[in-house]
Amino acid sequence: MAKPLQVMKFGGTSVGDATCIARSAQIVASAAQHMSVVAVVSAMSGVTNRLIGAAKQAGEGDTESGAALIEALRQQHHKALAELVTNTADRTTIEHKLEEIFAEGKRLYDGTAMLRELTPRTLDVISSLGERLCAPVFAGALRQLGAESAAIEATEVIVTDSYHGGAEPRAEETRQRCAEVIAPLLAAGEIPVVTGFIGATHDGKLTTLGRGGSDYSATILGAALNADEIIIWTDVEGVLTADPRLVPDARTIPEISYREAAELAYFGAKVLHPKTLRPVLADGIPVWIRNSFAPEKLGTKITQKGKSIGGGVKALTAIRDVALISLGGPGIVGVPDVIGRTFTTTAAMRADVLLISQSSSQNDICFLVSKPHAHATVDALRKEFEQDLAHEVVDHISVDPNVAIVAVVGENMRGTPGVAGRTFNAIGQEKVNLIAIAQGSSETNISFVVDDKSMQQALRVLHKEFGLGHAPVN
Ligand code: ASP
Ligand code: MG
Repeated sequence: MAKPLQVMKFGGTSVGDATCIARSAQIVASAAQHMSVVAVVSAMSGVTNRLIGAAKQAGEGDTESGAALIEALRQQHHKALAELVTNTADRTTIEHKLEEIFAEGKRLYDGTAMLRELTPRTLDVISSLGERLCAPVFAGALRQLGAESAAIEATEVIVTDSYHGGAEPRAEETRQRCAEVIAPLLAAGEIPVVTGFIGATHDGKLTTLGRGGSDYSATILGAALNADEIIIWTDVEGVLTADPRLVPDARTIPEISYREAAELAYFGAKVLHPKTLRPVLADGIPVWIRNSFAPEKLGTKITQKGKSIGGGVKALTAIRDVALISLGGPGIVGVPDVIGRTFTTTAAMRADVLLISQSSSQNDICFLVSKPHAHATVDALRKEFEQDLAHEVVDHISVDPNVAIVAVVGENMRGTPGVAGRTFNAIGQEKVNLIAIAQGSSETNISFVVDDKSMQQALRVLHKEFGLGHAPVN
């Protein structure tokens, strides 16, 4: 029988320097003693941000920043490599590989600065450099530990559409490529170390899966290879009942459903890229979130069904970087297609709408968007409703940036009566003012808007109300 297969992804902080890479490589090497392992790596922490920052400057005609960054990255990666790999022959081979990537980066920055134009496609290639630098170093660290390992660029194995900056994988082609490129390595007992975050179109143009996309890479590969488990190694101990900086007695949830985890990711809990679970839904492959800095802890297991911890509520989350936009007026009932026009406008602005609430008399619609989108969205709405504002049928389009969304998440809330009552009763007793409320018909979350200043108080009282700080019931 074939050995079980694990796909393990290591995020930026888990490969942040030589010490972190050594610790992560040790996790992979230990697992590889009794199973097949594919490692997926992010760029060393902060590298992608720096690459993108310098790309934007090059796009403005800055000829220096790109070169300076390449030099800084050269030093950073060579230092890590020198600490990790003592075999001179292997180190020299890796150094050559890195030099090729630095030379490519230098050419990309120079070309961008010369043209003063940064296209989405060039930005993708520049953004990919961090992962492409990290994978060979990580594979070297594994060989240093005595494990056979090869670095693979995901452009060879993840086939995507051509939407630069947020490409979508093509499952069937990806599966074929994985069978051709990765399966033989596994069969030979090697550990493939694949770059996270990137892929390529059918004809080989590099794409990225969106910021934070390495999690997604891991599940795409896991699904394509029929992995038994996927482990996302990060710097927190799994999915927590709430953000521990806001709620001190927050704790790790041992098991949670795909749906709950996706809901939390959507509502801003930063553990997972929101698309991460899509590729594994059909086959039900479990995904673990674990802490590479504390591998002895089990972390959180994300499964199809999850596991109840009593009361139906699993976790709380808050999104702070949001603004409330409201549009209304006594005459708004008579304005044709207010809702359609409002959301066509937000869509045209590519503003993500996080929560919507509308009064039934229709004289006020309010919704939340992320703060960076707020002003441009309001301007666009004022333009769209210019006539209606002039005739005073719409009397206000306003924005309040000092708000936060709090979401109560749990799949078993469905069919557990009284969760909403308890939620609003508890926060009412604390005299926290509710600005808007929404509950999806899926009943996996209840979310509401409060003043930013009351957000923490709301989280704490609800954490206590639903007993989330205590040991699980089962
Ligand atoms: N390095 C990429 C980013 O910072 C992808 C990732 O880390 O998941 O967005
Ligand atoms: Mg990440």
